[in-house]
This record gives sequence, C-alpha cells and structure tokens, in this order.
Amino acid sequence: MSEIRGYAVHAAGAQLLPYKFDPGELNAHEVEVKISHCGICHSDVHLINNDWGISKYPFIPGHEIVGTIVAAGDEVRNLKAGDRVGVGWQADSCGICEWCRQGDDQLCAQAQPTCVGRNGGFAERVRVNSRFAIPLPEGLESRTAAPLLCAGVTVYTPLRNYGVRPSSRVGVIGIGGLGHIGIQFAKAFGAEVTAFSSSKNKEEEAIELGAHQFVNTRDTGALKKVAGSYDLLLSTANADQDWVAYIHALRPNGVLCMVGAPPKAMQLQIQPLISGQRTVAGSSIGSPRDLYEMLDIAARHKIKAVTEPFAMAKANEAVARVQKNQVRYRAVLAN
Ligand code: NAP
Ligand code: ZN
Repeated sequence: MSEIRGYAVHAAGAQLLPYKFDPGELNAHEVEVKISHCGICHSDVHLINNDWGISKYPFIPGHEIVGTIVAAGDEVRNLKAGDRVGVGWQADSCGICEWCRQGDDQLCAQAQPTCVGRNGGFAERVRVNSRFAIPLPEGLESRTAAPLLCAGVTVYTPLRNYGVRPSSRVGVIGIGGLGHIGIQFAKAFGAEVTAFSSSKNKEEEAIELGAHQFVNTRDTGALKKVAGSYDLLLSTANADQDWVAYIHALRPNGVLCMVGAPPKAMQLQIQPLISGQRTVAGSSIGSPRDLYEMLDIAARHKIKAVTEPFAMAKANEAVARVQKNQVRYRAVLAN
C-alpha cells in the first residue's frame, strides 16, 4: 500500500501541517478506509492541546470518520472493498478480555483510540480493526452521519443505559457537537427535553432540534428555578459548571452523567446525593454494539448532525472555530 497523506500536529497546541506516513503491511484483522468525511470533535482539540497528557506527536487527529473500504486484511470476514463504513474514537481492543466479551469494548484495558498512537481521520485514508468499522445504514448521508460515530454514540449510550422513557425528564447541558445530537436522541426516546446552554442565541435552534425548554445557564436564578426536575442530566460541556446547582436540579434517583470533560475537579455536596439517592456518573463513547444500534435508530428517526462543511485543507480554520465555540454545531472536513 502507498503512503497516507493527511494533516498532523507536531507539538501541543501547534497548527496542523501537511504530513505523510508509510502505514506498512495491512494487518490481517484491519481494514483500510478511504475517507470521504471527518467530523471535528472537541476531543480532537483536547488531543491537539495535550489537555489529557496522552497525546503522542506527531499525529493526525480525527475520529468521526465516514468512508469506503479500499483494502481488507486476510482474516476480515464481515467487510469488503466498496463497503461504506463509519469509524469513531476506538480503533481496536484486545477482543478477549471480560469487557470485550460482554460487548463493553470501550472499557478494554488495551483499547486503542483512533488517533492516539495511531493516525486518524484528517487524512485520505485510515486503518482500524474491522470490528470498529461499522457499516452505515443506507438512509444516512455521509456528511451529517460522520459526527454520529463519536458524538452520536456518546450521547445515545447513556440515554439507553439509564432507561430514558416517555415519562423521563432529561436535560442536556452544553449545546455543541454532542449536545445538539443529544437533544435529538432524547426526543426520540420520548422524553421531555431541556437544553441548558451558556449561549442565549442557541435557544431557537435548540427548540427546533426537539428541546421543549431552554435554560440560559448564564442566569444563575434560572438554574435554581428547575430544582428537583430531572431524571437524567447529560453534561456535554467542556467547561466547569455549577455542579451543585445541577445536582439540586435532579429528582430523587436522578443521575448527572458526565460525558464532557471540563478541566477542573468537581466540587460536590454530599447531602443532596444521600437524601435524594442521586448519582453522579460518567460514560465513555460506546461499543461497536452500541454503534450499530445507534446508527440504526438515527436512520429510522432521521437524526443527523447540523454541520459546517470545510475542505480537508481548511482543517486549521475549522479547528479554530471549534476552539472558540463558534461552530453550529459540528465542523465536518471533506475530501
Ligand atoms: P463542542 O462542540 O465544542 O461543544 C461544547 C459545548 O460546551 C459548547 O458548544 C458550549 O455549549 C458548552 N460550554 C459550556 N460552557 C462553556 C464555556 N464556558 N466555554 C465554551 N463552551 C462552553 O464540544 P463537543 O465535541 O460536543 O465535546 C464536548 C465534550 O465532550 C469535550 O470535553 C469532549 O472531549 C467530550 N467528549 C467525551 C466523550 C466521551 O466518551 N465521554 C466523547 C466525545 C467527546 P453552549 O454554548 O450551549 O453552552
Ligand atoms: Zn470524539
């Protein structure tokens, strides 16, 4: 196979630069995907800036990938050249530990992210273990489906796992890439949905996406007014919030589930957790099983990302807009 060209970061916070690498022999369990689209998740920005101390430079970011298989390793049985697939945050796992065996591959100690120690989707092609290349249902358009591969599954999985149903009251905190898809899935589960946003000018669009209410989180009084209201609060915000107020906003047995990764440790009051049997939890992406299920539901319920399209060569411009919280609601690079 020939070399792969893309855009790589060489140091924390640096600009993306044209980059090429030799991927070597295709591993027996891998597929090579010719990329048509790649969304920009805020986790790419965290990796570019080395916010989590796990980045390995140089690397090509990008883990919301849609493309077509161009090569399959000798052991690949489920996919063939020409198949349209999606690839998310995870590119591989051991496949044999207790977590992989029970379909929680995202919890595998040897889980390999698509763009940590590997090269991701801001490129012409990408390679992953075939178990992590998920066929896309026909009804999904590549550009608006690409963000489902990370943002979509990350918000879908906790809604399913925490048993959201038509009687549930759900709040989505932070209406960015994850949050705007979270509103759509929560509505598809039949829940009453509230959008919590620090951007007042997102109100109209949040309602159009399916939210029944909008709470402006810059207004501290507004958060107090919704005390005791929610069964599930799903936080996608990547900035620190008034967590104590959010815990008070939960109903008894309510769950505050963190998927966004704010920088600071959380300050909590224990008493409202005890008295209302409330839970603070976290959720990590989703497994291949969750991806299949989520994509099927997205196709049936017409859930898709609202995107800002960019040519692959404009990746630096797109990343800068994500950093400044200017994107409505997901930047997607196209080849
Ligand atoms: P994004 O598109 O940049 O959206 C983040 C949103 O956070 C913003 O749109 C904004 O919404 C909100 N926010 C709240 N306070 C803010 C502030 N002070 N400054 C800027 N924004 C603020 O990011 P994303 O791609 O949705 O990712 C969100 C977080 O989820 C990131 O930390 C990412 O790493 C994480 N993530 C986690 C997983 C997982 O497996 N758990 C998977 C993917 C991503 P409003 O304007 O509405 O306030
Ligand atoms: Zn992501």
